[in-house]
Amino acid sequence: MLICFDIDGTLMRDTEDTPAIFTEALRPLLGFDPSAGDEEHGVTDLKEIRDLFTWNGLTESEANGRLPEAIEALGETTERHAAEIRAGRVLCPGAEAAVEKLAAESAALCLLTGNTRRRATVKLGDLPLARSLRVGGPGGYGESSVHRADLVALAWEECGAGEDEDMVLVGDTPADVAAAKLNGVGSVAVCTGAFGEGDLGAADVVLPDLAHPGAVESILGAARPFRL
Ligand SMILES: [Mg+2]
Repeated sequence: MLICFDIDGTLMRDTEDTPAIFTEALRPLLGFDPSAGDEEHGVTDLKEIRDLFTWNGLTESEANGRLPEAIEALGETTERHAAEIRAGRVLCPGAEAAVEKLAAESAALCLLTGNTRRRATVKLGDLPLARSLRVGGPGGYGESSVHRADLVALAWEECGAGEDEDMVLVGDTPADVAAAKLNGVGSVAVCTGAFGEGDLGAADVVLPDLAHPGAVESILGAARPFRL
């Protein structure tokens, strides 16, 4: 069994000024401060950057060509702000205990997040749960695709999961639920981010938070076999 956790709104909340970090990272590449479009929840950092580029006048092919250097710049900028990001971080209720209980059930855990590997490592890498979640190791990370749903097969592959391996995604946005549904795997939604039960009803299970009684059993019970 492979259990994949989202980060923001699922395991932790932060006070990071994300738009400011993206602006600081992309300013040297563009020569000006990019203006932001509408805020979208649950998108990958790669999509966020591509949208910022096209919103600010680059063609799609120009934007795509500049993505590698932008991802690099985003990683460097985030690492520069690591101390303040970690200081402003609050773990969601029950997150640590749920991760440790799931790991004790001998389930394999990983991250499936819109954050790039480097951003995920800044956000969680120093915490005890990082070991069970293999933060920065195998998983699905936001530099790999503009489509969150693509990260499911990547996580499966990177984690060396078997054919028909039971998988479940734990996340806080309709985008997490959609990524699971598109791949036929289980979905557990938590209401610790920007969305409530009414927005997340498509998930197999909706929990108020990871501290909810039976949360661990619900996650284990929601897993479904992944088929390429
Ligand atoms: Mg999230």
